Amino acid sequence: APRVRFAPSPTGFLHLGGLRTALYNYLFAKQRGGTFILRLEDTDRTRLVPGAADAIEDMLDWAGIPPDESSRRGGDYGPYVQSERLPLYSQAAASLLQTGHAYCCFCSNQRLDLLKREAQRSGHVPRYDNRCRQLRPEQVRQKLAQGAPHAVRFKLDAGAEPFRDAVFGWTRHEVAAVEGDLVILKADGFPTYHLASVVDDHHMRVSHVLRGSEWLISTAKHLQLFHALRWTPPAYAHLPLLLDRDGSKLSKRQGHIFVQRFREQGVLPEALLDIITHAGSGFDDNRIGRRLDELIREFNISKITTHSALLDLDKLDEFNRVHLQHRIEDEEKCAALRDELRQHVLHTHGSQISDPAVLEPQYIQRVLQLRKGHICSLRELLNHTYAYLWIRPRVTRQQLQEVSAEAGNIVAAVIQLVASGGSFRSAEHLNAELKTIASRLNNTKYSGVMRVLRLALSAQQQGPSVAEMMLSLGGQEVCVRLQKALE
Ligand code: GLU
Repeated sequence: APRVRFAPSPTGFLHLGGLRTALYNYLFAKQRGGTFILRLEDTDRTRLVPGAADAIEDMLDWAGIPPDESSRRGGDYGPYVQSERLPLYSQAAASLLQTGHAYCCFCSNQRLDLLKREAQRSGHVPRYDNRCRQLRPEQVRQKLAQGAPHAVRFKLDAGAEPFRDAVFGWTRHEVAAVEGDLVILKADGFPTYHLASVVDDHHMRVSHVLRGSEWLISTAKHLQLFHALRWTPPAYAHLPLLLDRDGSKLSKRQGHIFVQRFREQGVLPEALLDIITHAGSGFDDNRIGRRLDELIREFNISKITTHSALLDLDKLDEFNRVHLQHRIEDEEKCAALRDELRQHVLHTHGSQISDPAVLEPQYIQRVLQLRKGHICSLRELLNHTYAYLWIRPRVTRQQLQEVSAEAGNIVAAVIQLVASGGSFRSAEHLNAELKTIASRLNNTKYSGVMRVLRLALSAQQQGPSVAEMMLSLGGQEVCVRLQKALE
């Protein structure tokens, strides 16, 4: 069974790009009964953000794609935080030194800066000139004996061995020519990303690496490291760039890309996962509304395309609407929704609530059943349009009469209808009865009946259908409101 990893650097909070990578790893693992590892790559000590590591795992939990192995959960291949694995990296560096694949580099920062500036002046990409490769063994011994600070560099092969990526196919990158030999261990004893990543992928028995395509060039280096260490490399699959709908970087949407933000806005995690995979390819068809179990079942890695994944966040409402409906139709999940909505109602309308019955589960359940497929979030039900659900409106007879001169007769007829019971079976039933009322009254059209009722029940001119309003309020409350309107 495969072992895959999501390896964020805790230099910030989880954003959509990270969630995308985590998700595809998760889908790949779960589809094949494999293991999903969370590894924290915290070797760049200068960029650490306190709390980020915990927050990342929290967000994976919230999204419903928790890791099987992580520093919080444990596992047989820990520690899962790179700063706790330093001996493994120095061992690997020592072994590369011994086999002649690596060398000590004593170049000072000043010298390296100078190289950089010279390159920039002549319009080149800065490249280390591999000077310390040339040092003779006695020179190295001498400097080490003097305690001279040094990094360890890995000798990159001049050739460009092609490798096969599961998404991008055969690729090759002439990495040696571009940057010069690769620092693998810094002077402070910390590994660089490249060494740490390779060492951990090996020791954690990672079988497949799924990560963003910005790492494709690194893969060429990693394969050389694997080769020099005589380790079998994992298989690689690079995911296409994830961009905003217009092709710009997602991060341009300042602050709107952190997973935490979506959670705070009431976005359902399954809607977020669905929209990400919808944009990201890897499925036979492009339907909306796949739940996690369906994503796992239907994911097809060979369907991932190389062209950028364009994420249209304006469609998120639509995804949320579909998934909210799923939740409402799921008995177990709906109980949690009812509680949540109840809390929201109490919080928003609190003292204005006209009848404690609106906080009862049966009432809230009815509202959800009638509104599912229409609303994109529970919070919508707290909008002005839906205030009638929780608060008895104040409407005067005068106002009703402005809508129709027959308002008094209309309301009286409907009260009678409701009092006689029986019509609350469905919207169709109600509508048929209301049509009959309209036809029995003089000078009254069906639409007039509806307008009067809508106003009497909600003090609004818009909203769900009148029949739906009546169904959700229930016969008793409808009568109370109609009677009040006549006073
Ligand atoms: N730490 C890297 C990152 O922040 C991991 C890249 C990889 O998956 O190898 O994305």
